[in-house]
Amino acid sequence: MAQARAEELRRLLNRAAHAYYVLDAPVMEDPVYDRLYRELVALEQADPALIQPDSPTRRVGGAPAEGFTSVAHRVPLLSLDNAFSLGDLDVWYGRLLKVLDREPQEGAPTPALPLVGELKIDGNALALSYEQGVLVRAATRGDGERGEEITANVRTIRSVPLRLNLEQPPAWVEVRGEAFIPDATFATINAERAERGESPFANPRNACAGTLRQLDPKVVASRGLSFFAYTLHLPEDWQGGPRSQWQALGWLKAAGFRVNPDCALCPDLAAVKAFCDHWEQERRGLPYATDGVVVKLDDLRLQEEAGFTQKAPRWAIALKYAAEEAPSRLLRLTCQVGRTGVVTPVAEFEPVPLAGTTVSRATLHNADRLAELDLCAGDTIVVRKAGEIIPEVVRVLVELRPAGARRLELPPTCPECSSVLVREEGEAATRCVNNGCPAILRGSLRHWVSKGALDVDGLGTKLIEQLVDRGLVASIPDLYGLDAALLASLERMGDTSAAKLVAALEASKQQPWHRQLYGLGIHHVGEVNAKALAKAFPSAAELEAAALAADDSGAAADPLTAVFGIGPEIAQSLRQWFATPANRALLEQLGALGFSLAAPPEPDGSGDGGPPAATPLAGLTFVLTGTLPSLSRAAAQALIEAAGGKVSGSVSRKTSHVVAGEEAGSKLTKAQSLGVSVLDEEGLRALLGTNPV
Ligand code: NAD
Repeated sequence: MAQARAEELRRLLNRAAHAYYVLDAPVMEDPVYDRLYRELVALEQADPALIQPDSPTRRVGGAPAEGFTSVAHRVPLLSLDNAFSLGDLDVWYGRLLKVLDREPQEGAPTPALPLVGELKIDGNALALSYEQGVLVRAATRGDGERGEEITANVRTIRSVPLRLNLEQPPAWVEVRGEAFIPDATFATINAERAERGESPFANPRNACAGTLRQLDPKVVASRGLSFFAYTLHLPEDWQGGPRSQWQALGWLKAAGFRVNPDCALCPDLAAVKAFCDHWEQERRGLPYATDGVVVKLDDLRLQEEAGFTQKAPRWAIALKYAAEEAPSRLLRLTCQVGRTGVVTPVAEFEPVPLAGTTVSRATLHNADRLAELDLCAGDTIVVRKAGEIIPEVVRVLVELRPAGARRLELPPTCPECSSVLVREEGEAATRCVNNGCPAILRGSLRHWVSKGALDVDGLGTKLIEQLVDRGLVASIPDLYGLDAALLASLERMGDTSAAKLVAALEASKQQPWHRQLYGLGIHHVGEVNAKALAKAFPSAAELEAAALAADDSGAAADPLTAVFGIGPEIAQSLRQWFATPANRALLEQLGALGFSLAAPPEPDGSGDGGPPAATPLAGLTFVLTGTLPSLSRAAAQALIEAAGGKVSGSVSRKTSHVVAGEEAGSKLTKAQSLGVSVLDEEGLRALLGTNPV
C-alpha cells in the first residue's frame, strides 16, 4: 500500500518537477506540489526502504535544460528545507541546537542565537562568478551541482553589477541571489503573450525562468528582470571578509549589489517569528512575489559547524506562508437542496488547512461544473481558498485516480423527498419541483427568519429542522401558531428560550414591508430589489396588481421593469410568483396574522422625509467580480454608489477593495498580485456599516 503510494507520488512529482524546472510550464500549483512532496517525505521517513534514487526528495531542482552549456558550480547551490508554521520553526531551531551541541539543560532557558530574517523572493536562484572584480559567469541553479550558463542574459539585468565596487577585489567572489520579475512587468508580459496567441506564464517565477533561458539576450533585456543578492562566498584565505550573514549583506551592498531592504537581524527565535508574522500581511503590498521568509543562522562559523543535509543547509529554513491551494481526497459527493429547490452538488473531502482555516466542503455549483471537473469517487482534488473567499474545487489530479473509479453525477431524484429532479432546457440549475419537499420548506423558513428579512432571533437551523421533521411546521404561517409550551419541549429548548422565541415571532410582524417582501423568497428578489419594489409599490396588493397586469409582450409598458434595477427576468419571476394560487393564499394568511404587507402611510407629502443618506464609502473605489451570495452585480453597485463609493471595471493599485464572489476571475488574481484588499459580500456589508434595513 505505502509502496504503491510512494511510487505513484514519485512518478507524479518527477513529472511535475520536469514541467516546472525544465519546461517552465507547471502542471500543478506550488502548494499542491509541496503537500504531495511532504506526503512522500513522510512515507520515506516511516520506511527508509521506500527511498529510491530517483525520488524528488533526493535532489535539488531540475537538470540543466538543453541548448545551454552546463557548468559546474564552484560551491553547490542547495535548496532550502521548508517550515509551514511557526511550530515547525521551533522544531528546526531545536534540531539546530542539537547539531551545534547547545541544547539547554533541563529547566534552563533555550539559548538565543542571532538569526537573520529575509523575505523569500519567488524568483530563480542565480550563481554569479566574479574574477578580479569582474563578472565572468552567471549560471542557473540547475541540479545544484551543475547549472546552465546564461552570462549574456544576466549581463542585461541592471541590478547585477558587471564590476564590483571594490578597490581591491578578491581573486574570486561567488554571489548568489534571486532574479525575479516584478508583478507589474509580469502582467505586461502575459498580456503581450496573450496578444500573440501564446499561453500565459503561470506565475512570475516561471516567467523569470523562461526569460533567463531565452536564447536572445535582447529579449531578456526587454523583460525588466531584477536581482536581489543574499549569499556571498569568498576565498578561504581572504582576510577581512564578513563573519556573519548580516555582515555579508552589508558587504554585498557595498560591493554594488541590490540587497532586499526588508530584512532583519533578530536576537532570537521570537524576534524572527515576529518578523515572519509582520510580513505575512505586509508582503501583499510589495511590488514582487514572495512566498515566505528565509531564516538563517547569522554566525557564519556556526553555519559551517551545522553543515548540510543531502539537499539543504541545516542552518537555514524557509517558512512558507499559508497556502491557498492544497490537494485533498474526495470523501463523498452530497447534494444540498435550497429554498428555491435548486440542487447544489457539494464535495466533502478530507479536512485541509487553507489560508488560515480548515476546510472540508466546497460547493460544485451545478451539474455542468460537476461534469467539467470530471469527478470520480476517491479522486484527489485541488482545493482553493484565497483569503476570505469561499472554498472551491479547482480541478482533479487525474494522475492519482484509483483504477476503475466511478464517475460522479447528480442523482436523478431529490435526496430529500425522492421526487424526480428537473433541469429545464437552457438552465444551469437542476431543481426539485416538489413544493412539499422538506428541504425547500426548511430553506424558506430559514430565509424568512434571516437577518435581512424578518430577523427572528432564536430560530436557528437545528430548531427549524426539528419543527419540520416532526411535522409541527409546514409553512411560514405555521411558525406563528407555535405555543411556548410546545417549543419548550423540543431539544435544547427551555421555558425561557421558548417564551423569547414566541415574543420574537410576534415582534417580527412589525418589520417593514420591504423586509416582508424579501422574506417571501421570490426568485431574484434580493434585499435591494425588495426595497426598490416596496418603494414603488407600497403594498402587496399594488405589487400584485402590477405583476398580474403586466403583459409579457411590452416591456416598455411593464410597470415592474419601470422600477430602477428591475429587469425582465425579475419581472417574469414576480409574475410567476403572484400567478401561483398557493402564494396568494400565503399572503392572505400573513395578512390575517397581522402582517401589514404594506408601507405605513407617509406622514406628509414631502417625499420620504428620511435623514440624508450616509456616505461611509466616499472616496473609495470598488471592483466587483464573481457571483455574490445574495446581491446581484447591479444591486451591489447600487449599494456602493448610494454609500458614496465608486465602482470601476478594472483593478489597479488605486482600487480600494475588490468584492469577490464565487467564480471570481482574473480581477481577483490581479487584486491579489497587487496586494489590493479583497472582500466577500459580508465584508462589503460590514463596510456599508449596516445590514441594510
Ligand atoms: P524553494 O523555492 O522552496 O527554496 C529555495 C530557493 O529559495 C532558493 O534556491 C532561492 O532561489 C530561493 N530564495 C529566495 N529568497 C531567498 C533568500 N533570501 N535566501 C535564500 N534563498 C532564497 O525550493 P526549490 O528547491 O527551489 O523549489 C521547490 C519549490 O518549487 C517547491 O516549494 C514547489 O512549490 C516548487 N515546485 C513546484 C512544482 C510544481 O509543479 N508546481 C514542481 C517543482 C517545484
